[in-house]
Amino acid sequence: MEQSQFIWMDGEMVQWADAQVHALSHGLHYGTGVFEGIRAYATANGPVVFRLPEHMRRLHRSAAAYGIPVAWSVEQLVAAARDVVRENGLPSAYIRPLVILGTGSISLDPTACTTRTIIAAWEWGAYLGEDGVRNGITAGVSSWRRFAESTLIPNAKGTGGYLNSVQAKLEAVRAGFDEAIMLNTAGLVAEGSGENLFLVRDGTVITPPVTAGILDGITRASIIRLLQDDGVEVREADLARSDLYYADELFFTGTAAEVTPIREVDHRPIGTGRPGPVTLRAQELFHQAVTGKLDKYQNWLESV
Ligand code: PMP
Repeated sequence: MEQSQFIWMDGEMVQWADAQVHALSHGLHYGTGVFEGIRAYATANGPVVFRLPEHMRRLHRSAAAYGIPVAWSVEQLVAAARDVVRENGLPSAYIRPLVILGTGSISLDPTACTTRTIIAAWEWGAYLGEDGVRNGITAGVSSWRRFAESTLIPNAKGTGGYLNSVQAKLEAVRAGFDEAIMLNTAGLVAEGSGENLFLVRDGTVITPPVTAGILDGITRASIIRLLQDDGVEVREADLARSDLYYADELFFTGTAAEVTPIREVDHRPIGTGRPGPVTLRAQELFHQAVTGKLDKYQNWLESV
């Protein structure tokens, strides 16, 4: 990973190497934390951050859902994220805010714990590789199910929940796939280990609803809007595993993954085995929107 110079910690810019938390931080032991992933894109007028307030609002919502207090307002976090991109002189960036419970108690009752708030930013290219973005990736349906509403809160970005995603990702990579597709405990399609999933069939775009136990992705919402505004029919619907095999096109969306075509699932080629027209259009619209080339979506962008 490419390092930058400064990390924002609890209101101060500290050197990358000094951005440390205590070994007995509650969050390290029990996964009591929430986080975000945000991207800033290079433009002729400097970096612009994509849907920054929405991400910070989701951070607050995730924290509230898991009972983690946040010491900073959405507005303060937005300002801090811009500062960290600017101070590091980054032309484009992946921004990682994290709120974790710190020291004060190692009991499972976290009431006495401090919280630590951290925002890092560094340059990060395509999460699933440049070749993946261009030619599509391979995915395997995981034996690990996405954790259920009765277990944790799927629609909150809690650090502890990512043990589930990490198991799915590890299994997929060890089996030779680029990424995992997770079903939910009802056996319906949920999402990737760190991405939402879209399917195209007969020109219609379908994505699982939030009630399938997915994270309500900000890229997902943006792609739904961009495609609908472009005249494409987009629906939320439950999907069976076999729907994946019969799809004309499949793609993942996420802040890190952006729009990544899926060319193969469980060793079965999807459609022609090449990124299809709807996927390519989604990629093009997304790229134009995040780099400020579409007037209609300028309010999604914020300069630093
Ligand atoms: N699902 C999971 C499990 C994720 O970790 C992510 C990445 N945050 C997403 C979906 C995509 O969400 P977003 O588009 O908001 O980055």
